[in-house]
Amino acid sequence: MMILMTRHASQYDRGPTLCAPDAEKSCFACCPPIRPAGYEHIRYRTIIQRMLRENTRSFDCQNRDLHPITGFSCWALGYLDNGSRLVGCLLHPARHNGRDLRPLVDYGEKCRRESCPESRTFLAMSPESRRYWLRLAKGLNSFQYSSRRFNPLFRLLGWGQILLGRVASEQRETDLTRNSLSALYPVLASDLGPRANAYLLGRIIMNVPLEHLRAEMFSRRFGDFSGGIVSWLREMPLENQAPYTHLLALDSLFLDLLRLGGGIRRIREDQAQAFKKRVDRAVTDFLHEIRTECTGGPKTERSEVRDESRRSADGFFKTLNDHDGRK
Ligand code: SF4
Ligand code: SF4
Repeated sequence: MMILMTRHASQYDRGPTLCAPDAEKSCFACCPPIRPAGYEHIRYRTIIQRMLRENTRSFDCQNRDLHPITGFSCWALGYLDNGSRLVGCLLHPARHNGRDLRPLVDYGEKCRRESCPESRTFLAMSPESRRYWLRLAKGLNSFQYSSRRFNPLFRLLGWGQILLGRVASEQRETDLTRNSLSALYPVLASDLGPRANAYLLGRIIMNVPLEHLRAEMFSRRFGDFSGGIVSWLREMPLENQAPYTHLLALDSLFLDLLRLGGGIRRIREDQAQAFKKRVDRAVTDFLHEIRTECTGGPKTERSEVRDESRRSADGFFKTLNDHDGRK
């Protein structure tokens, strides 16, 4: 949590973090680490601003007494700069010559360990890619930036570092803003759940020109395709005693598709692998179709069959099974 909280030349050499992107704003969404589900600081902005002012004013950096925190607020959360733009941890090692004073709130390892999946995805991208996507957060203050409702990066990062990294590496000059996102990349700004669809879209987009991401038609076609896969997964018979899906040693994006798309919380590894094989085959067919459509070539017998079967998830996978010789 709050990985780098002070402005520091070497920090910017390494590239921005999601927690501390620049000198205008910071994220403090996960402070303190235990919060009610769906809690957002911005809903209580006036009260919290007052608390931050008081915390900052009363903070004594020489005091090493233990002051356990209770409830959902922390006495060590305050303003980090004179302009009251950056909000963060006053006990963070970056403010105390490397000495970590966060244990003074008696939260054990929670403060040091806390990091959200989005911050890890962000950090896995190159500094250039991170800066590209940070354009979406331009003009947000720390309260808005810390809110999943206001900050589009939290949702967008669900698409994963490979896909977002590829877009950023090829589109650096594009005028990306919060308003232009849906016009530039309709599929990324669509209603599709990013984490549930990142595996499918990632496999597709690695095999077609990036221009597809810009087409509204592609967004609709991908939505139909994803809907077919998800419906099929949801109908699969499963075992209640199987291992938890997220613990399996398979591609984590595929496991997200099973869990968040297909609602599969438990599954045997061999069954998950069999599903993956079939999903990958469906992706290959989908790629074949959109390539054919883009080149304007005649439809193959196979894509005509696919058009027919797209009417329902059953039809979609029945065709796939027929190709496999399974009925
Ligand atoms: S000690 Fe720092 S990191 Fe921990 S909850 Fe308080 S402000 Fe957040
Ligand atoms: S919610 Fe994520 S981005 Fe925000 S401070 Fe916590 S780890 Fe950083």
